Amino acid sequence: MTKPDHARLDRVVAEARKQSELREAGYRERALKLYPWICGRCAREFSGVRLRELTVHHKDHNHDNNPADGSNWELLCLYCHDNEHSRVLEEAGRHRSADQQKLATHNPFSALQGLLKK
Ligand SMILES: [Zn+2]
Ligand SMILES: [Zn+2]
Repeated sequence: MTKPDHARLDRVVAEARKQSELREAGYRERALKLYPWICGRCAREFSGVRLRELTVHHKDHNHDNNPADGSNWELLCLYCHDNEHSRVLEEAGRHRSADQQKLATHNPFSALQGLLKK
């Protein structure tokens, strides 16, 4: 019997996490070069250490869709970014039929939504 190689698994997970962090840092930096450091919703300006609160939102919600012209990016502050995502979840829930809801029960977001509605 072979024991699962946890050290190796940990390395794989750490590597995957590093890759996604690098990717994220990559498009954030590019978005910050393209756009003024202003939240696209509440129009607050950011600079210095506060700049950490300005995040990159993907308009089509696909984090792998990062066109060089920045057309899929929008700079949003943490709060507006949060709002933007909960708004989309609400809309998705409203438009979803009962059958689709059954199919989507594995989705952690729809499970959360169900809890919030109660
Ligand atoms: Zn904002
Ligand atoms: Zn987003």
